[in-house]
Amino acid sequence: MKKLIIPKQIVTVNKLDAILKNHALLIEDDKISGILGKNEIELSAFEGEIYEYPELTLIPGFIQTHIHLCQTLFRGLADDLELLDWLQLKIFPYENAHNQASLKISAQLGINELQLGGTTTILDMGTIRHQEVIFEELINSGMRAFAGKCMVDKNGLMPQFKESTDESLNSSYELAKHYHNKTKKIKYGFAPRFVLSCSERLLRDTHDMLQEFNGSLYHTHSSENRSEIEEVRKMTGKENIEYFNQIGILGNSTVLAHCIHLNELEIGTLKSTGSRVSHCVSSNLKLGSGIANIPQYIQNGISVSLGADGAPCNNNLSIFHEMRLASLIQKPLHGPTSMDAKTTFRLSNIEGAKALNLENEIGSIEVGKQADLVLIDLERPSNPLNDSEEKIYSSIVYSSERIDVKHVMIGGQWVARNGKSLHYDENELLSLGKKELKSLLNRVD
Ligand SMILES: [Zn+2]
Repeated sequence: MKKLIIPKQIVTVNKLDAILKNHALLIEDDKISGILGKNEIELSAFEGEIYEYPELTLIPGFIQTHIHLCQTLFRGLADDLELLDWLQLKIFPYENAHNQASLKISAQLGINELQLGGTTTILDMGTIRHQEVIFEELINSGMRAFAGKCMVDKNGLMPQFKESTDESLNSSYELAKHYHNKTKKIKYGFAPRFVLSCSERLLRDTHDMLQEFNGSLYHTHSSENRSEIEEVRKMTGKENIEYFNQIGILGNSTVLAHCIHLNELEIGTLKSTGSRVSHCVSSNLKLGSGIANIPQYIQNGISVSLGADGAPCNNNLSIFHEMRLASLIQKPLHGPTSMDAKTTFRLSNIEGAKALNLENEIGSIEVGKQADLVLIDLERPSNPLNDSEEKIYSSIVYSSERIDVKHVMIGGQWVARNGKSLHYDENELLSLGKKELKSLLNRVD
């Protein structure tokens, strides 16, 4: 069935950054098949569904390149701690206590929140066990995602929360075999947690598996916290990025969350290897980790995209908070012109697509691309009232909230209409979530 969307305007994020008024978007199956001038369309003769939104702005679906769906249930249970304490005292014990039911509701809560906020693609890091639950939920919800079980084969912070190297490698391989490209929207993202919880063999052998699964990714954390990089130095005698480079895991299929504490050599190494940085600004502030020099990375041509990280270190999965903070936090350091609204907006769509090597499929509104779309209401008294093009970016990055997202489509299928999920009932999520959290907390060692 064809669909025709006629919005107030289309923010394309194409090569010209065109903003189109008096245009309609034609969708066939999962793809954008035409962008038509209004006078080219004969509505009465159109065979398909017509969606007319004269008040709403059509933008590309948002892309978040670092998420932990498995942690959504733990929101508010790990506040005001720094990274290593946060992991040791709270997050590792909670993740270790997950069963299939608690993991499922955690994923549902996360996906519901992300989709209602206009996020249509994620790169997710799972937990050690029951990864199939997350994949099944991603598939049921219509989300576009890279996901993978979290790999941990040593753990000084919580020794019982780990697997043997072979177990971790073999189960990741089997999951990738089963789920990579299982549907058009699902791909595997291998996910060794971070240097301190992974042996060198685990890190290397995981990277070797990328070759067998074309289009898969390598997803890990790096250089987030000062005590962490101190430990990495003690362990490897190197800075984190230099260590990764030495063992051969960097490249254009590697997405590194955080990358806050880097020296000039490491920045050069990220650039020369084409490695991707996922900037998680709220998480970096809340855990007191630091501020990544994002303007410098962008200036160097390093791929930068955005991610909300997990609910207990944010405590929100809203791309609007990430965009606003990613812009504002740099201004006292680099001046008010740094991280302007348009640059920041692009990190949430086309730059996210590039980070995932999907820039030919998603990240902008262009003919031939997937119909991953958001209709947002910018006609509110709390938005800029001036209708100029540059104010559209300002409106989205500085003034908008998740509640302004009205309709969301992924691959030609609606997942949210009128601010409501088509997959989830929020009352059910809430009551089941409370019940599962209570029993999970009873299972914590
Ligand atoms: Zn993370």
